[in-house]
Amino acid sequence: MVKETKFYDILGVKPGCNQDDLKKAYRKLALKYHPDKNPNEGERFKQISQAYEVLSDPEKKRIYDQGGEQALKEGGAGGGFSSPMDLFDMFFGGGGGGRGRRRERKGKDVVHQLSVTLEELYKGAVRKLALQKNVICDKCEGRGGKKGSVEQCPTCQGRGMQIQVQQLRPGMIQQIQSVCSECRGQGERINPKDRCKQCQGKKVVRDRKILEVNIDKGMVDGQKIIFNGEGDQEPELEPGDIIIVLDEREHPQFKRSGNDLILRLEILLVEALCGFQKVIKTLDERDLVITSLPGEIIKHGDVKCILNEGMPQYKNPFEAGRLIVQFWVQFPDSLPPEIIPTLEQALPPRPEIMIPDQAEEVTLLPFDPEQEARRRSQRNAYDEDDEMGGPGQRVQCASN
Ligand SMILES: [Zn+2]
Ligand SMILES: [Zn+2]
Repeated sequence: MVKETKFYDILGVKPGCNQDDLKKAYRKLALKYHPDKNPNEGERFKQISQAYEVLSDPEKKRIYDQGGEQALKEGGAGGGFSSPMDLFDMFFGGGGGGRGRRRERKGKDVVHQLSVTLEELYKGAVRKLALQKNVICDKCEGRGGKKGSVEQCPTCQGRGMQIQVQQLRPGMIQQIQSVCSECRGQGERINPKDRCKQCQGKKVVRDRKILEVNIDKGMVDGQKIIFNGEGDQEPELEPGDIIIVLDEREHPQFKRSGNDLILRLEILLVEALCGFQKVIKTLDERDLVITSLPGEIIKHGDVKCILNEGMPQYKNPFEAGRLIVQFWVQFPDSLPPEIIPTLEQALPPRPEIMIPDQAEEVTLLPFDPEQEARRRSQRNAYDEDDEMGGPGQRVQCASN
């Protein structure tokens, strides 16, 4: 048992879930509440980040499970948390090699989640995604105005910072330093009369961009598709990447397990006993016919498989996993009494039962899992009453 579940609750997972569940939960929530998409949920984004940071680290998780948040604060596990943005960048980090050193000269990556069906992952698909992004203004070529119109900012004299002096009371002044509002910290500005009309001197404009996302056969949930250099453009910066993260939707019939597909197939008792043929519609709409062997009985919960009818392997789509069929036998609720002797003849004989002389006859009831818990809580209520009445009565109650 864990001491607290707060971090688990934040991520919407159960204690004891595995690292994959954890990653998936973080992925979904971090993308949903990222400040780019949800500017008012900064606190939430931070909590998600901290919860994931603790639960994904075996040592921190152990301390948290045993002693809760307090133990983490006191414990030797480093205490503080990473910046939520750093964690996010690390988790979703783009593909481009040689990162790090170049990092400052590169714009930030943009991460989008793309919900895909199991059919799309099975057959492959091309999805078009419309995005808004900043591009360098073509009218002024990113200068923000006419050539030579850039001048030192008159408000801050090129420093980028403004200092305001406030007199608190006679003899005491306070200096407040802030980013220059005229040039937004750039130290230079474009004279308003020379500003580019298209971008209002911002050097970039918003543009709609259609991305074609190729979903290859066999791709998996959480897989990243990277568009190098397709992020927001900014003057003098190498644009960052657009990173598409696939999010596999649940399928009503098939469940995926690696390259295998699992199908629960309901059959009637008559089919289980006397044989059957079934048609299975595959994810690419083919019909597969399966037939039981003559005389074979399928039991409830039996599992069989069909080779090469699972998910195609990524980058090797002619190889596929297995289609695993779990049989679910539907029993009738009752039988007409007159056919029971006929049925008995077909089935292996029942064993003879010896009933001992002293045996007691009891009644079988429908089982209600809650019943015992209800009775126990009632009994506890009585016990508490007894304690008020003194120890003598408790003994009496126990013998009841
Ligand atoms: Zn300025
Ligand atoms: Zn412009």
